[in-house]
Amino acid sequence: MLSEPGKIKFAIPSKGRLKDPTIELLKKSGYSFRSNGRNLYATCTNADIIFIFIRADDIPVLVDSGVVDMGITGSDLIIERNSSVDVLLPLDYGKCKLSVAIQDNFNPTNLKDFNGKSIATSFPVITSKFFSDNKIDINVIEMNGSVEIMVGLKLADAIVDLVETGDTLRENNLKVYTDIGNYQSVLITNKKLKDNPAIAQIKRRVEGILIAERYSILEYNVKNELIKEIEKITPGFESPTISPLDEPGWVAVKVMVEKKKVISVMDDLEKIGATAIIETEIKNCRL
Ligand code: AMP
Repeated sequence: MLSEPGKIKFAIPSKGRLKDPTIELLKKSGYSFRSNGRNLYATCTNADIIFIFIRADDIPVLVDSGVVDMGITGSDLIIERNSSVDVLLPLDYGKCKLSVAIQDNFNPTNLKDFNGKSIATSFPVITSKFFSDNKIDINVIEMNGSVEIMVGLKLADAIVDLVETGDTLRENNLKVYTDIGNYQSVLITNKKLKDNPAIAQIKRRVEGILIAERYSILEYNVKNELIKEIEKITPGFESPTISPLDEPGWVAVKVMVEKKKVISVMDDLEKIGATAIIETEIKNCRL
């Protein structure tokens, strides 16, 4: 079943924090498949794809080796697994950073004070590289989880772990000393398949949904002579669409604006005299 010719093998996280947003994004992108239950894979009912449910940390290696054609996983895991995959698209969820965290009783004045220290982490590759790039010699204690308890137990001097809110660190009396990198979920493919048309189409569909989620459409009317000014306030994804109105000297403008900026852009437009300013949600798009 899994080697059906002509079908793309697409690995998605079987559990953990990337699972639900990944399934939601793929369904919004138009792919129908069964995602509940304990199935190891699901055949897409409206495209030539088999979705295979795999742990996020195994996905980079399987895509790199060509066992599966493409996948969604965390960008941290690609680096940690030394995987040479093609990143097609950042997906904007699962955002996190990897940080060095310490307790209050260790007060390094600079990174050199970590020389000879023991650092517990589930990211031995990224951690070793960070310290060796800075010419610091450390002892890495490699773990699969519960890294944050190690300093309290006096089994390590510091940890390197993923941080989102910092709550877990605080609960364990730890604080961030420095950040090592920023990561997010990404759509990846095997390098040999990066120009495959079926994979390019999957990328375009997902990209359409991501842009639609990030932008709104703003429509408004403005006096002709203000066009230069409004192009500065609302440059658009490419450029605004400007059409003449019946009212002489006035134009209608239609433009994409990043959702997080819409309110302040509306204020600015109103200030320079734009009228009938309306925001509309975008459901999907191809740009
Ligand atoms: P999982 O262990 O299956 O929940 O997935 C772990 C992956 O989720 C990590 O490798 C990151 O890519 C991503 N992630 C995003 N935020 C966090 C976080 N606060 N802690 C751990 N992993 C996170």
